[in-house]
Amino acid sequence: HEEITRRSQAMENNDTADLRKYSRQAYLQKRRDKKIDEIKDEILDHEYIFQDVKLTEAEEKEFRYKKKIYDLVKEHVEGADDAAEYKMPEAYDMGESINQEKRFSVAMQRYKDPEAKDKMNPFAEQEAWEEHQIGKSKLQFGSKDRKRSSDDYQYVFEDGIDFVKSSVIEGTKLEEDSDQEDADEKDMLKRELQDERKTLPIYKFRDELLKAVEEFQVIVIVGETGSGKTTQIPQYLHEAGYTAKGKVACTQPRRVAAMSVAARVSQEMGVKLGHEVGYSIRFEDCTSEKTLIKYMTDGMLLREFLGEPDLASYSVVMVDEAHERTLSTDILFGLVKDISRFRPDLKLLISSATLDAEKFSDYFDSAPIFKIPGRRYPVEVHYTKAPEADYIDAAIVTVLQIHVTQSPGDILVFLTGQEEIETIDEILKHRTRGLGTKIAELLICPIYANLPTELQAKIFEPTPEGARKVVLATNIAETSLTIDGIKYVVDPGFCKIKSYNPRTGMESLLINPISKASANQRAGRSGRTGPGKCFRLYTSYNYMHDLEDNTVPEIQRTNLANVVLTLKSLGIHDLVNFDFMDPPPSEALLKALEQLFALSALNSRGELTKTGRRMAEFPLDPMLSKMLVASEKYKCSDEAISIASMLSVGNSIFYRPKDKQVHADNARLNFHTGNVGDHIALLNVYNSWRETDYSTQWCYENYIQVRSMKRARDIRDQLEGLLERVEIEVSSNASDLDAIKKAITSGFFHHSARLQKNGSYRTVKNPQTVFIHPSSGLAQVLPRWAIYHELVLTTKEYMRQVTELKPDWLVEIAPHYYQLKD
Ligand code: ADP
Ligand code: MG
Repeated sequence: HEEITRRSQAMENNDTADLRKYSRQAYLQKRRDKKIDEIKDEILDHEYIFQDVKLTEAEEKEFRYKKKIYDLVKEHVEGADDAAEYKMPEAYDMGESINQEKRFSVAMQRYKDPEAKDKMNPFAEQEAWEEHQIGKSKLQFGSKDRKRSSDDYQYVFEDGIDFVKSSVIEGTKLEEDSDQEDADEKDMLKRELQDERKTLPIYKFRDELLKAVEEFQVIVIVGETGSGKTTQIPQYLHEAGYTAKGKVACTQPRRVAAMSVAARVSQEMGVKLGHEVGYSIRFEDCTSEKTLIKYMTDGMLLREFLGEPDLASYSVVMVDEAHERTLSTDILFGLVKDISRFRPDLKLLISSATLDAEKFSDYFDSAPIFKIPGRRYPVEVHYTKAPEADYIDAAIVTVLQIHVTQSPGDILVFLTGQEEIETIDEILKHRTRGLGTKIAELLICPIYANLPTELQAKIFEPTPEGARKVVLATNIAETSLTIDGIKYVVDPGFCKIKSYNPRTGMESLLINPISKASANQRAGRSGRTGPGKCFRLYTSYNYMHDLEDNTVPEIQRTNLANVVLTLKSLGIHDLVNFDFMDPPPSEALLKALEQLFALSALNSRGELTKTGRRMAEFPLDPMLSKMLVASEKYKCSDEAISIASMLSVGNSIFYRPKDKQVHADNARLNFHTGNVGDHIALLNVYNSWRETDYSTQWCYENYIQVRSMKRARDIRDQLEGLLERVEIEVSSNASDLDAIKKAITSGFFHHSARLQKNGSYRTVKNPQTVFIHPSSGLAQVLPRWAIYHELVLTTKEYMRQVTELKPDWLVEIAPHYYQLKD
């Protein structure tokens, strides 16, 4: 009740900031309360079938309560005077083809007779349905062709580690037993793809574009998403002979985009991924001597400057998705602009999906702008009548609503991250399951950065006839990836944005409203193949008054320590006068210098020290790099790289299946024996796995994700190589946990916190109240002093990956930063 009142209050005052806060809370609340009865929910959504239900007393009571809440919210929804035509969530259009009555009678049946639900066996139905789908898609697309391309996808999209290993074997195997028929099929696929290439909007401008590249050194290219910039331009350049003089680089802000686009282009060119066409992302290099076209994250190109300051091996650099203005892209701008002056043979293409290209042109000394007229159909934009209290819920209802009321066409929903996508995936499956053949099939396809690569290909597969695909995506689908067949876009209006407070040095990843530019990009995704519709889960008032015009470039809202270290090691000392397109706040620059000084990466004159030079070799956050460099002193570099790679994998080491949570938790606690702290626990996991000779079975038994472990192993191999490069011997000191913890402290002494009386912690520098994350092995132990890897804000500000700290270590390790009081 309180929750609802607060939300209503926020709604009434049209206080969007508050509303978002409470929506977020409501969402979290919901995630905690997983037992919400789906059918009751459904009935709440569709009040009108309420009347003839027989309920038990308890049920009725609960029901009334829920209805009351529902009415309360509804009242506010209806009370709002915004005249937009889009109504939520009660606006089911009865005129459409789907038989509503039938649909709800099934729901009712299940509600009245819960036993019947089991009798109907939703799983059996689901299985049958899946069979049916597979059968259908085989029939429709011709089993051979279909199989061929999906096999190819599986092969090209394989996970990093698996890929590198299996590709060779599978590849040769494929060739060995490929008969004539197979070769024909391959040719056919290639021919088909070649024909497809010619239908892209950019094709008509191929020659003109090549002429422009010949004439000018720098060109700004602007074109609608999906016009073919990313996949075609590098191929055109290759065909025109640019790759004879050096590689063509094409940068992407996102890993998934770099991998997926490279896979697509290798397919179009009929070559194996990693040969002529390859990609390079952090910790994963899928290129070879042969590689001519290299897709890479912008961060990777930035790192290549370290080894090759003039990018001599490249003939063309295409900075793609420039409008995203990621930190690395912004730094790249300055660096490529600089080298273009003394390398007149190097061609620079800056490509962007938005039309405000003048800024790029101005920055690159009035470079010409090449516009590729897009193919864009009209998009109808719908707003909600009143702000939605819970955008997750609103998104689900909207998807179902589109599904049952709108003509065929796929749906794209923009969400903020993996967690949200998984939640919605689950709820949507739950809600449509059992309805079986009563409604058209709904294929749910998630896409986010950490999605196993073999699953990523699913979003590109054509939707079988009679079914509808719903793609649940992060911002990646805004411009980086083009998904064909989308006719409806659901836009809750949020994304995760990194923000940084230079005063406290705190960085946080928070869910924030998107900008108008983003909103329009999102809407545009629905109008690529025909007229589309965009459902915004906010009001037109919100759009007009609350959204910023453009997203603030990352450089102005992030910790710059990493970039400053890179620039310093490139010999760029005068950061204040570096040619930034939009300079970062000087406070943030100062803070970065300060932090690097504290880590002894810079001396008091701001020059790079030996430690700093070594740190810059690692593609890691400076604090982690410092931990590795410091491990030399404590003779535990073996342990340090294991810990660093486990931390770099993210929070996907342990898993907790719903039905075995207790087992999983016990297995996890085994690694924490002796309250060693989370860092050492991660080390224990890695070492135990290594002892079993990297056994998959062992992972299963211990509720550890194999995929994550393989990735950690791969990262570790690379870090080991880098240790050698900075001349640090690999030495193990496994029995001396304090030594290992001191090495960690050497990197993370900024992140220390002290226990308070109430069980919370107070960070030592820039005091702030924080808590130990419930997933930590020390969550019940509460050491007096702690050091943490990162802060995450969910319901509270939590420290994640925590280890106990002895306070005198701080004075020993960072005397310039910490002093004893007495
Ligand atoms: P732009 O960079 O201008 O946004 P792209 O070159 O990325 O355009 O995409 C052009 C077309 O190529 C898209 O419309 C899409 O149909 C196709 N395409 C791109 N990537 C893939 C992929 N991984 N799988 C299938 N099709 C793809
Ligand atoms: Mg693109």
